[in-house]
Amino acid sequence: MKVKDGINMGNEKLWDVLIIGSGPAGLSAAVYAKRANLEVLVAEKEYHGTGQIAESDCVDNYLGFPSINGYDLGEAFRNHAVQLGVPFFDGMAQRFVPEGQCWRIYFADSSSIQAKTVIYCAGAAHRHLGVEGEEAFIGKGVSYCAVCDGAFYRGKEAAVIGGGDTALGDALYLADLCEKVYLVHRRDEFRGSALTVQQLKDKENVEIITGTTPEKITGGQNVTALELKSGRKLPVNGAFIAVGMVPQTQCLQGVVDLDKTGYIIADETGITSAPGFFAAGDVRTKALRQVVTAVSDGANAAVAAAEYLKH
Ligand code: NAP
Repeated sequence: MKVKDGINMGNEKLWDVLIIGSGPAGLSAAVYAKRANLEVLVAEKEYHGTGQIAESDCVDNYLGFPSINGYDLGEAFRNHAVQLGVPFFDGMAQRFVPEGQCWRIYFADSSSIQAKTVIYCAGAAHRHLGVEGEEAFIGKGVSYCAVCDGAFYRGKEAAVIGGGDTALGDALYLADLCEKVYLVHRRDEFRGSALTVQQLKDKENVEIITGTTPEKITGGQNVTALELKSGRKLPVNGAFIAVGMVPQTQCLQGVVDLDKTGYIIADETGITSAPGFFAAGDVRTKALRQVVTAVSDGANAAVAAAEYLKH
């Protein structure tokens, strides 16, 4: 199935569709491709991953599943693909090379796979703030995932930085665990849901600080304070950074057209500038990055890939 160091390690299989990423977009594409009777394989960066959704404590806007836990929703998506018999393998795709009318995809362990089409659904990674102390305290008080790390701050004080849905959801989640939560946002208006902002305002242990940004994160072995540009010093043990995402498209420079912020230029069909290469989910240019739009992208891209294969 795979080629290692350029040497064929057995009968190499030519897949119809190789899906990169097993978040909602990738899993939806896998279900649609499998049901279209295509030979489909899903490559995932980490074993049994379901993408960013697993980091959401509560997804409240996926139709039919009010207030579902993100991990559970991700598992339900994955189980659907598994039940249909979609195969998965762990591999970090690093290079995409056109080979005749197909693609050869090289992985971090220098193995490779050949596929007639690629559906790229690698999502986005957490943006870093870039302030002093941030990198040094990662895992020692600095976190990018409240659901993963929040329990370490039970009964303590924490700050959340950002004003989007992730920051608001993180602050709400931490408010039930922490003694006190500061939400620090650079503007007076929030990008995220007004309903969640109201829920935060109703919490007695949440303080919303707007119009300033962090200057540095300080401490000894672990974080003890977040210093703001306004001059205020917040005595926190945890700093949860939720200032957006950057698309995971570094390996696609020169492969497909990207916009100036790194998103793959593609409409809802997922068709990109490269024949046989499709994009779905948060990695593509779009107005609304939500689970529901990722799922819909995956379906559209799989249908577009099936059409492409017919012709
Ligand atoms: P986002 O919507 O891009 O918000 C990022 C926030 O960080 C913005 O408030 C931004 O401020 C702030 N920010 C960016 N750079 C900063 C910096 N250098 N210093 C200080 N603040 C900075 O990102 P997100 O919250 O991760 O959400 C990403 C997407 O996922 C969105 O479409 C969101 O709706 C979606 N999402 C949905 C749910 C849900 O529905 N349950 C949950 C989580 C995420 P400005 O506002 O001033 O630009």
